Amino acid sequence: MVMTYSVAAEVDRTIEEAVRFGASDIHWDPQASGVRVRYRIHGRLRDVRELPSAMCEAVVIRVKGMARMNVAEKRLPQDGSCSCVVDGRSYELRIAVLPVLYGESVAVRILGNALRSPTLDNIGLTEVQRQVLRGYLQRPYGLIVTGGATGTGKSTTLYAALKEIDRERLHVVTIEDPIEYRVAGVNQMQVGESGRVSFAAGLRSVLRADPDVIMVGEIRDAETAEIAVRAAMTGHLVLATIHAGRAEEIPARFFEMGIEPYLLAAALRVVIAQRLVGELCPHCRYAVDESGQAAGAEPCRGYEARGCDACRQTGIARRHGVFEVLPIDAQIRRRWQEGSTSLPDAPQDTMAAQIARLAAAGKIGRCEAAGWLAEAEW
Ligand SMILES: [Zn+2]
Repeated sequence: MVMTYSVAAEVDRTIEEAVRFGASDIHWDPQASGVRVRYRIHGRLRDVRELPSAMCEAVVIRVKGMARMNVAEKRLPQDGSCSCVVDGRSYELRIAVLPVLYGESVAVRILGNALRSPTLDNIGLTEVQRQVLRGYLQRPYGLIVTGGATGTGKSTTLYAALKEIDRERLHVVTIEDPIEYRVAGVNQMQVGESGRVSFAAGLRSVLRADPDVIMVGEIRDAETAEIAVRAAMTGHLVLATIHAGRAEEIPARFFEMGIEPYLLAAALRVVIAQRLVGELCPHCRYAVDESGQAAGAEPCRGYEARGCDACRQTGIARRHGVFEVLPIDAQIRRRWQEGSTSLPDAPQDTMAAQIARLAAAGKIGRCEAAGWLAEAEW
């Protein structure tokens, strides 16, 4: 039992350390040689330490106990949740245990840890994009949708948007899966797999609760899409995320889910696409030449970062979004009213253009920018 006790302390210490490092996830992965402990910081996994294989089972027992899982079940995947308090702040942990070759692996997501007080001013929007968004957030109704792949910070953008809304005067309700971040003055409801009701059922209940502003964590199905569109047409400001790549592809997702073009024309005000980039650490950043070598860097073709104590060896100071903000203008609304499902043109300030500017200014690495620009071309 002494062994178990020390492992419990090791698990607790690891969670505390990960929270303080600003990690979004912790992984304990049993390998042939031992248990690999890794943190995801700024979106990238980083090795922290390796524990002896003999400790693997005790780590899993401790974590299962915390999340009230079945400790005796070792052959099936399990998931659960619990909360912890670090430095006086409470964090919700989502835990998944998987049976793998050398035992059981554990993944812990620390909700809200990577989002430190998001606002429209600090998430990476350009000045012009901020002004456009603020304009739409002042209106009493309409649908505002952010798109991006998983982990691109689209919920963070909506949390930042919610803070712009007068939460004293207006009834603001969210339906989320999971609730990642708490916003004062907002009624936040847990739905989906982790809650007891679906997004669609949750949204219908919210509409009966006299809301002014509704945030829909994610539009995943036709029913939720339909209710969100109707809500936006009947005097509510609706903010939602959807799984889509570029801004101009967001309306297409609604059409695929069976929304009539004339309805979308009446509801949709602005679409936002985003992805996350890593801002280079200013303390260990260096100029590189054409081939990516440091050298005297003449001519300088961009920047990279080595990693230092200030950035915990990641080379990244912080992660922020790069955005496309595309208002749905009168011309495109007219086309949709006539039954066409044609899509809006790409925004003038594309993500590719912004990423090229950030790389030239040494804000993001040459390699990251080149990889993304190559991806954007095809
Ligand atoms: Zn650094």
